[in-house]
Amino acid sequence: MRSLITGGAGFIGSHLAEVLLERGDEVYVIDDLSTGSILNIEHLKTNPEFNYTIDSVMNYPVIAELVDRCDVIFHLAAAVGVNLIIEDPVRTISTNIRGTEIVLELSVKKHKKVVLASTSEVYGKTPKVPFCEGDDLVLGPTNMGRWSYACSKAIDEFLAIAWWKQYSLPVVIVRLFNTVGPRQTGRYGMVIPRLIEQALAGEPITVYGSGEQSRSFAYVKDIVDAIVKLSEAERAVGEIFNLGSDEEITIGELARRVKEAAGSDSEIVNISYDEAYEEGFEDVLRRVPDISKAREYIGFEPKVKLAGILRKTVEYMRE
Ligand code: UDP
Repeated sequence: MRSLITGGAGFIGSHLAEVLLERGDEVYVIDDLSTGSILNIEHLKTNPEFNYTIDSVMNYPVIAELVDRCDVIFHLAAAVGVNLIIEDPVRTISTNIRGTEIVLELSVKKHKKVVLASTSEVYGKTPKVPFCEGDDLVLGPTNMGRWSYACSKAIDEFLAIAWWKQYSLPVVIVRLFNTVGPRQTGRYGMVIPRLIEQALAGEPITVYGSGEQSRSFAYVKDIVDAIVKLSEAERAVGEIFNLGSDEEITIGELARRVKEAAGSDSEIVNISYDEAYEEGFEDVLRRVPDISKAREYIGFEPKVKLAGILRKTVEYMRE
């Protein structure tokens, strides 16, 4: 197989590239290094089956050539991270929508399969937990930057489904929940690398809001393995899948576990959302996936639990 990964120098994309190379694929990566990094793919450059292009997913002729060359497209390129989204909503919306339009449009011409990476953020602040793929999406007002990300990714999903229904483009949509592991940076907001960095530096560990909000964290390798399996499953075409862990933890408790895993003396401090993000910022209070659909289709089971995730990530960040 020849596989294209848009956003392949990102945290998840670079892990996906590794797994596809192990499968024996010829792998093509395109990334504009906006939130990705050349360091993420440095170790892959010597592999003759690995090819990369530093360019934007919005560069139509470049994407056209890459889509032409490949059998399957993993579309991961997107503006991500709560910090970035709030600071630059224009870029978030245009990268996420225009980039996906280009990938889908070109893939349909050549009848290539597309795996679209979406996000648990599309569920927004729905109070119903756990989240199922068929649930309603509950988003906040349009003057709150945060929701532009959810909305742009929901449009991506609508587009993918529309191309499938109207033009039989084979698409698989994966809604990724909080995913963690080596090479993830805390620079764009992601909580675990941020807190570990603070703990290792002996700086205050920052818990936003009351710390009673919860998330569930999956290990990146479990997630990329599932993405590959779904791309191979014939009956997954035209379907949406939650991928993540269902081991729920409050952020307050997470901070205590990070402190312990890092053997740190840092104090844990609470910071208001207004101070951390923007005035009127609304957080998602609970976020847990129902993963029974992925379990049924591909036997998905997140193997690495939170304790293992923290141990591996602390080890990596210490190095
Ligand atoms: N968070 C925190 N301290 C930080 C960064 C994030 O308490 O330094 C909180 C954030 O407010 C949210 C949770 O951790 O409730 C997860 O944040 P992240 O940005 O990693 O992902 P989200 O699930 O919000 O997209």
